[in-house]
Amino acid sequence: MENMVLIVGAGPSGLATSVCLSAHSIPHVILEREDIYASLWKKRAYDRLKLHLAKEFCSLPYMPHLADSPTYIPKDMFVKYLDEYVSTFNIQPLYHRSVESACYEEVDGKWRILARNMKSGDVEVYVAEFLVIASGENSAKYIPDLPGLYSFKGEMIHSNEYKSGSKYANKDVLVIGCGNSGMEISYDLSTFGAQTSIVIRNPFHVVSKEMVRLGMVISKYLPVFVVDFIVLLMANIKYGDLSKYGIRRPKEGPFYLKATAGRAPVIDVGTVEKIKSKEIKVVPGISSINGKKVLLEDGAEREFDAIVFATGYRSIANEWLKDYEHVLNETGLPKNNFPHHWKGEKNLYCCGLSRRGLFGVSMDAKAIAEDIKRVIDEKNVKVKGPPRILSLLPYC
Ligand SMILES: Cc1cc2nc3c(=O)[nH]c(=O)nc-3n(C[C@H](O)[C@H](O)[C@H](O)COP(=O)(O)OP(=O)(O)OC[C@H]3O[C@@H](n4cnc5c(N)ncnc54)[C@H](O)[C@@H]3O)c2cc1C
Repeated sequence: MENMVLIVGAGPSGLATSVCLSAHSIPHVILEREDIYASLWKKRAYDRLKLHLAKEFCSLPYMPHLADSPTYIPKDMFVKYLDEYVSTFNIQPLYHRSVESACYEEVDGKWRILARNMKSGDVEVYVAEFLVIASGENSAKYIPDLPGLYSFKGEMIHSNEYKSGSKYANKDVLVIGCGNSGMEISYDLSTFGAQTSIVIRNPFHVVSKEMVRLGMVISKYLPVFVVDFIVLLMANIKYGDLSKYGIRRPKEGPFYLKATAGRAPVIDVGTVEKIKSKEIKVVPGISSINGKKVLLEDGAEREFDAIVFATGYRSIANEWLKDYEHVLNETGLPKNNFPHHWKGEKNLYCCGLSRRGLFGVSMDAKAIAEDIKRVIDEKNVKVKGPPRILSLLPYC
């Protein structure tokens, strides 16, 4: 099947890119491996999740959140917003299509994409002038290879399978990973009455939602070191020195780290208070696991009924995209630095891989659609005379 633009993935990035392309009347097709759009939000997010960022930073192009919606939108409300986005703009991804390879054919200057139809098992071939990677920073879960991991006798899950702490009351649960998911899941487990422990090894910043919102607003006008100074001052007043509880701050500030290394601060949902009151125990790293016993780096041995790995995800676009080096590095993330990350060579683009959440998704989608429009117009002017109006929906 031949297409003008092929988008891989129907998460917020794929949906936003689709809408921006339609605004320029550019025909396109979206391939999605699951049976639904926004699968991360619909299938792989825990119940108590609210958007970490204020709503003004979390809307997709052409559809702001309603004025009366809460500042920090709960997951279910965000899913409804996405449902409305899809129906308003009549987005029609092709589901059950898992892209297994994509390569650039120098002969005709087009992308050749192979997708497995997960229902029939057949491999389908697509050809496109432009290819947009919108398969997400979170396309595969990451679990560290700990000694004895698979000897563990209790329940072991990744955070993407975690829904709520309701079934863990009175159980000993270890959460590995102290990013936003790990800290929030620990809070949730403890609220449901689990004896909760969390592994904290690396330094990180703890801030509140309001501090992040303020920082994002003032960073439009002030240099990052001033923003960090203000935010850290507020964080120190609110939380005090947390090092005695095992939480150490990095040397660089939270906004600097986010901008340069993509490392997000932890946005506290109440976990810090529970750590201070010892309702949640902080433990050091793990040396090994044996049956239900976990040997910690300080020599202590503890038994757990369950382990939740909040150890993150990785992009695996570089595994199926054979010519990934036109836009990605070997970790599946953009090879060019922000703000030039979204555009590669050979009509290849990536959306939503800049570690800037939904805010970054929106920026990328608009930039990609405008660039594709420019390339098409230039080509039409050079080769075929005046720009032509490309067909409207349906796309393929
Ligand atoms: C628990 C959690 C909470 C978060 N909270 C926030 C928040 O509050 N604010 C914020 O801005 N961001 C948040 N994020 C980040 C969030 O992932 C992004 O903002 C958003 O989902 C990115 O959209 P995306 O479309 O790029 O990726 P995804 O949502 O991951 O969508 C990618 C899609 O591509 C599909 N896909 C992948 N590989 C293939 C393939 N080979 N073939 C076909 N289809 C494929 C997947 O099935 C998926 O549907 C959160 C992330 C997590 C995990």
